[in-house]
Amino acid sequence: MSIRIGILGYGNLGRGVECAVRQNPDMELAAVFTRRNPQDVTILTESAVVCNVADAADWKDKIDVMILCGGSATDLPVQTPEYASIFNVVDSFDTHARIPEHFANVDKAAKEGGNVGIISVGWDPGMFSLNRMYANAILPDGKDYTFWGRGVSQGHSDAIRRIDGVKDGKQYTIPVDTALEAVRNGEDPELTTREKHTRECFVVLEEGADASMIESEIKNMPNYFADYDTTVHFISEEELKRDHSSIPHGGFVLRSGKTGWENENKHLIEYSLKLDSNPEFTSSVIAAYARAAYRLAKEGQTGCKTVFDIAPAYLSAKTGEELRKELL
Ligand code: NDP
Repeated sequence: MSIRIGILGYGNLGRGVECAVRQNPDMELAAVFTRRNPQDVTILTESAVVCNVADAADWKDKIDVMILCGGSATDLPVQTPEYASIFNVVDSFDTHARIPEHFANVDKAAKEGGNVGIISVGWDPGMFSLNRMYANAILPDGKDYTFWGRGVSQGHSDAIRRIDGVKDGKQYTIPVDTALEAVRNGEDPELTTREKHTRECFVVLEEGADASMIESEIKNMPNYFADYDTTVHFISEEELKRDHSSIPHGGFVLRSGKTGWENENKHLIEYSLKLDSNPEFTSSVIAAYARAAYRLAKEGQTGCKTVFDIAPAYLSAKTGEELRKELL
């Protein structure tokens, strides 16, 4: 029998999970749940239905894993504990500083409900976290580096769009090549925020808006841009739509370390991602962890887990025997 998946929240990630389920023959999409009127939400899977979140509990015995695709800022802190008390759940919660608190809330709810909840799944947190952890375990004497981009930062794009006189905008985070090369060369540089990343903005102005004032407002915005070298390009609405409507991202996780009695030998571990679609890749990671949630629940496990707690074989559709033969 295939793993019956529910999707709760149908935005970029929700659509991405729908595509990922289609690529995994051991999974089927049972239903999509939305806070909007279900009639206003059109999905692609003909065999699945769209329901209102208010009816989600009725699906307790018809869904094996509920994938929570809401936003990290306000949706997931509430939704993940709420639904972990009813279903096995997976989320992509990415507010790093609040992960311990989120873990505790989900752990309590999942244990009370007898379910498994896997949180903060995706690429960062997610695959990047795993790679940082492996590299730290292997090279205890070393230095970590994470570079993001080139990719669209949703938070920074939103910050630009909130400025008076801005009609629309997209922001790209770009790693500084010379910094990346210095790490790769084993120079173990100490890098400031400004030395690691630059920011590039593409902005559509409202009619009559003052471009130079807006450029200065962006470049000096505390927390978002003030600590970076930022370039601002003013473009037309058509250009933004034509050249900047996709959501690419990616980045690099590196650790340089030393081994030997006198620390005489150097090593560099590098993991990199280049993603055409951030939400579709994130969703593909989530689908693999949904399989793990299903298997852990079948074993009788309960409570909250992160990517650190789950053995890799649980992610794969292949059997242990196949994995040992084909991929070991
Ligand atoms: P979206 O803004 O696209 O979707 C969030 C929610 O908004 C949806 O679940 C949906 O809920 C609601 N929504 C979507 N479209 C509409 C609409 N047209 N009208 C009204 N409401 C709508 O966010 P993303 O899917 O891009 O990202 C979700 C979260 O994933 C992010 O907050 C981010 O934190 C996290 N993320 C994590 C990553 C990682 O590596 N760990 C990587 C990328 C993202 P509903 O259907 O109920 O209305």
